[in-house]
Amino acid sequence: MSSTTISPRSVTVPVQVGDVTIGGDAPVVVQSMTNTDTADEIRTAIQVAELAQAGSELVRITVNNNEAAAAVPNIRKRLEDMGVSVPLVGDFHFNGHKLLQDHPECGEALDKLRINPGNVGKGRRRDPQFATMIENARDLDKPVRIGVNWGSLDQDLLTSMMDDNARLDTPKPPEEVTKAAVIESALQSAQRAQELGLPEDRIILSCKMSGVQDLIGVYRDLAERCRYPLHLGLTEAGMGSKGIVASTAALAILMQEGIGDTIRISLTPEPGEARTKEVEVAQQILQTMGIRAFTPLVTACPGCGRTTSTYFQELADQIQRHVKERMPEWRQHYPGVENMTLAVMGCVVNGPGESRNANIGISLPGTGEKPVAPVYEDGEKTVTLKGEGIAEAFTERVEAYIRRTYGTTTDESTPSWA
Ligand code: SF4
Repeated sequence: MSSTTISPRSVTVPVQVGDVTIGGDAPVVVQSMTNTDTADEIRTAIQVAELAQAGSELVRITVNNNEAAAAVPNIRKRLEDMGVSVPLVGDFHFNGHKLLQDHPECGEALDKLRINPGNVGKGRRRDPQFATMIENARDLDKPVRIGVNWGSLDQDLLTSMMDDNARLDTPKPPEEVTKAAVIESALQSAQRAQELGLPEDRIILSCKMSGVQDLIGVYRDLAERCRYPLHLGLTEAGMGSKGIVASTAALAILMQEGIGDTIRISLTPEPGEARTKEVEVAQQILQTMGIRAFTPLVTACPGCGRTTSTYFQELADQIQRHVKERMPEWRQHYPGVENMTLAVMGCVVNGPGESRNANIGISLPGTGEKPVAPVYEDGEKTVTLKGEGIAEAFTERVEAYIRRTYGTTTDESTPSWA
């Protein structure tokens, strides 16, 4: 993997969530959230396991009613039976104080609580209900994410800040006051939590916005003003490429500045799309930025008028799918394989150069070129493939390269996938 030029933000206070560390010098943690009804403990446990298998290092589940709260310990038990130990985060809103009091085994089964200070109660009930949840977490020694969302911002705080602003000689635009209120809500709630006895190293903050520039501005400010680890995410990012692009644009800028200790990509799944897509996107953002490596990266050219067919696109897709299918086994037997790079290129213009730069690459013939496909391994041309079966031959070379480079033995026997 190429070296990174990202400079860490002034170090945050690390928070332990189960066996995962968030903040300090720890790698940026990938997390996700289920979209099943938590009361349906079987479906929820299966989805948590799928997200964990995809690489989610924390999984959040909503705890919205008595049935959900009662299901949480059973979900934990089912996960244990499946051999899944991923830390579980409970997402609490309006009735969280009551659910935690009425279902003490729910809080015990969770590894972290998420509390939205804008949704803990209105008027006089807000402070005592917030306190009940924090005291619960404190007594159970569980960390808390104080998760502000601009769509559910504490309206009393916002009104009071808007009133103060209106009295200024030169009032700021309302959107600036709203952003300031989002940050104030997080910081004031964290301070209140510490006053209630929750230690600093049990607090994580987030201030989610749905606009890219708003999110960047808010987190830059927040990072300057506190040492709590920050959970990054663009809320309501949307569906498909819009959600992916918007999340990437926002998070990449912040992480390049060293801001962000854990990320979640809030994608709306397309019909039929797996929930694990959000984990895949989070990993790809971190890996393409050179922050963490999760799986070998496949570089493929976009194709142009020099390519005679869709053959190279098909080969790139085939290699990508092979990598995905084989990664669970590779991860176990070939430490470091996640740093490998592969190239599948469409013609002689950039093909040899890009292939030489990858650990292993193939340069397919373009229009009018001799129908041969040189393969490069660690910068050297090792073989020229031709005729039928180029895809299979290249896949075999990839497998052999991995065994040779990342294996702990020199076993060159027939691979298990063949
Ligand atoms: S490598 Fe060749 S086929 Fe691929 S985009 Fe460049 S010129 Fe086109």
